[in-house]
Parts: sequence; C-alpha cells; structure tokens
Amino acid sequence: MRQIVGEAHLSTDETILHNNGHDETEDLVYLPEVVVFPETVTQISQLMRLCNAELIPVTVRGGGSGLAGGALPVEGGLVISTKRMDKILHLDEQNFQVTVEPGMITENLQNTLKDKGLFYPVDPSSKGWSFIGGNVNTNAGGPRAVKYGVVKDHVLNLEVVLPNGDIIWTGANTLKNSTGYNLTQLMVGSEGTLGVVTKIVLKLQPYPTQQLLMLAPFRSPESACAAVAAIFQSGVTPSALEFMERNAIEWAIRYVGETPVPLNDEDQAHLLIEVDGFHLESLYADCETISKVLEQFDCGEIFFADNDAQKTALWKLRRNAPQAVKNNSIYKEEDTVVPRAELPRLLRKVKETGEKYGFESVCYGHAGDGNLHVNILKGTLSDAVWHDELPKGIREIFEFVKSVGGTISGEHGIGLVQKSYLDIVFSPVEMELQRGIKRLFDPNGILNPGKVV
Ligand SMILES: Cc1cc2nc3c(=O)[nH]c(=O)nc-3n(C[C@H](O)[C@H](O)[C@H](O)COP(=O)(O)OP(=O)(O)OC[C@H]3O[C@@H](n4cnc5c(N)ncnc54)[C@H](O)[C@@H]3O)c2cc1C
Repeated sequence: MRQIVGEAHLSTDETILHNNGHDETEDLVYLPEVVVFPETVTQISQLMRLCNAELIPVTVRGGGSGLAGGALPVEGGLVISTKRMDKILHLDEQNFQVTVEPGMITENLQNTLKDKGLFYPVDPSSKGWSFIGGNVNTNAGGPRAVKYGVVKDHVLNLEVVLPNGDIIWTGANTLKNSTGYNLTQLMVGSEGTLGVVTKIVLKLQPYPTQQLLMLAPFRSPESACAAVAAIFQSGVTPSALEFMERNAIEWAIRYVGETPVPLNDEDQAHLLIEVDGFHLESLYADCETISKVLEQFDCGEIFFADNDAQKTALWKLRRNAPQAVKNNSIYKEEDTVVPRAELPRLLRKVKETGEKYGFESVCYGHAGDGNLHVNILKGTLSDAVWHDELPKGIREIFEFVKSVGGTISGEHGIGLVQKSYLDIVFSPVEMELQRGIKRLFDPNGILNPGKVV
C-alpha cells in the first residue's frame, strides 16, 4: 500500500486511526488498521486489486458526517479517505454540468458555482463538512430537496472503481439516458458497498436570485405538521419547509448562543418556510398564500426575515438543531419518511411509543418531504433499556411508517445501525435481490462489509 500511495499518504498513527474510526453516529468507534489518502483513480484501482486478492476489508470515507454508521470500518482493515481528491475537474457552463472529485466539501462546490451564477441545490445541513462523494453514496437530501430533489436527481454519470479494481463509467453526460440498466442510480445511495466513486458528473441550473424566509410558530406540533400538506395543496412549492419541535429550536438557540426570534411559552413547534425564484413580486404572492393557509392551523405571529443576516440566523438554528440535540444527550436519530399528509399521525405515533417505552424524543426535519428526524434521547435510561427495550419501540415506529406507505430512511441510509430493521420494509424476495446485487459487484465481500445488506 505504501508503494501505491507513497509513504506520506499512509498512516497507522493512533490518532489518525481514531479520527477515521467514527462518524456522527451515536458514540460508535471502530478502528481501522491502516488509513490511506490516495489522490488518483489509478491508486484506488491498485489498492482495490490488492485488497481483493488479499481479502482485506475496505471502507471508503468521505467527510465522516454520516448518521447511519456507513463509514465505520466495523471489520478493521483499510480505510480509503477521499479527502485529497477535492477538485473540480471540469466546469461545462454551456451544458450546465460540473465534473467533480468525491472529496470536495459540498459547500465549497456550491460557493464556487454560485460565484458563476450556477446552482447545485442539494444542501444537507452538514454541507460545511460532508463531501460530494459521501452525499452521492447516501443519496443525501436536505432542506431544499422539497423543491429541487435529492442527489439522485442531479447525478448524470459516475466513475467508479469496482471491488476487483476495474474502473467503469456508469452512464453518460446527458440529461436523458435509456441505455441499459441504470447503474448510475444503483450506485447513488449504495453507501460504499458496491464500488468507490472517483468522479461525479452533476447537472446544474441557474442560481435563483431571490429568497424569502419566514418562521411560523404553532401551539401544537401536530397542527404544524398538518399545515404542511395544505401548503402544497394551495399550489405553492416552497424551496424549503422545515419542522422543529420546541425543544429543537430552544436547544439550538442555546447551542448557537443567538436569539434571532423570541420564543413565546405557547409556541410548541415551528415551520421554517423558504420560497425562492427570480421575481420578488411572485415570491411575495407565494408568501401571502402560505400565510393564509397557516392561519387555518392555529398559527401564531409569523416572523419574516427582512435581511440576509436574519435569514442566516434562522438557518443557523435549523442547521444546528442536530448538534444541539447531541450536546444534550447521547441519542439515536431515526430518519423516518412518510407521504407528507401522514406527518401528524407519525408524530403522534412517535410520542405514544415514547410514553409506552419511557423515552423522550425531539423531532425536527424536512417536513415538506414527509421526512421526520426522530431523535431519541438516552437521558437517564439505563443501558439495559437503551440496548434491549428501545429497539422494540423503534421497530413499532418503523412498522407504523411502513403501514402508511413510508420507509425507514429518507436520506441517511441504512449503514450499520438500521440494518436489523430491513425486514420491516423488504420481503425475503426483495431482500435476496438486494443481496444478489451486492454479490454481483463484490463477490468476496471486501467493500464496506457488515453494512446495508
Ligand atoms: C449535523 C448533521 C446534519 C445533517 N444533515 C443532513 C441533511 O440535511 N440531509 C442529509 O441527507 N444528510 C444529513 N446528514 C447526514 C450526512 O451528513 C450525510 O449522510 C452525508 O451525505 C454524508 O457525507 P460524508 O461525506 O460525511 O460521508 P461519510 O459519512 O464519510 O460516508 C457516508 C457513506 O458514503 C460512503 N462513501 C463516502 N464517500 C464515498 C466514495 N467516494 N465512494 C464510495 N462510497 C463512499 C461511506 O462508505 C459511507 O457508507 C447530517 C449529518 C449531520 C452530522
């Protein structure tokens, strides 16, 4: 491995092993035996060839912000860090496309494009440190997915190193492609179990020049959730529609140390709603339509962000909600997603299950997508309850989710921590198809072993 990547780009140093042995999933740590920092696809191909021959487990790592344990090297072996592969390789402004390496930080790509009036809309709240390669492999979403879609809607083509070291392209740099099976979409969200993504071709669009943002308080979390579907029925598609329970926003205020809006005692939940586009007049009209809808759901006084500083402050609260929760307690984050009109029932089910099993939860998420992040707090729960009883409660919530047409992960993936619940959403036949795909790509099972299937 030293010969392949060079002495300076391989490490067995304890701190580096530790840094590459955890992501943002609970408090889990699994140490690899060695970490490499390759710079080229050829180096990755040679590494994979070697590991495949020697049956060495390989885990690919992006920014390490994952919440499903996808980047944890649970069987030790090699971690391939993609952090040195962080360049834009080609910006094709004529065709609105960019070819980028997997190790580029999401926000860096977005900022570079914005300077040229171009928009890559997928903006997970972790965009400041997640990598594009990690986003592709989790099929990441984020607040703006409600209008612009998730990663899968923006990836045109991928260069991939297969577990045996072969290098392939999955598709074409075209907006349409009806040629054979859709390997591009198969790779998206495959959580580093099928191949190492080494180049990514993304489609772009013009950057919307105007955004309006409002924060609406509600007396009950369920009415906030019920308002969500009604907003879309009014004919407006917001560019973000985020839900935060009182604890989420209150803890975020404390965590970031800023209070952009006062919270009233009766405010039990908030919706953060953004509309974007190119014409202010039509956006004001959208906001008016939304306000009228919200009035029907016992909404309090709506706060309109007047300037960029206020907008940034509100977004900072939402984006810091996960870290604020983490700061309060060890927690498990569930990434439930349902058809959006089912959100109120999902929230009720979560709270009822909490009462039954004795856990507290803080919920927030991408309400416009029906994607509710359920953060279950360890608080004072004993280890026995946490490890043995809680999974039963989670299973009940997931079974409910499935029964209303939803699924157990909207954007974080299955990784390590959701694997034991897959039987809820896949029949044995469906599960065997999934396993068959894994075997086809990785017959020796060296790539990200122990994950997904
Ligand atoms: C505070 C916070 C907020 C978050 N907000 C959101 C959000 O709004 N929306 C959302 O979707 N997610 C969110 N996440 C989850 C997480 O940031 C995303 O899953 C993100 O896409 C992970 O990217 P990463 O680069 O950190 O990947 P990692 O965690 O390093 O890896 C994720 C998976 O991708 C695989 N992988 C990484 N790079 C490659 C590659 N080049 N080739 C093959 N496999 C690879 C890994 O093996 C692993 O299975 C959030 C996380 C945190 C901590």
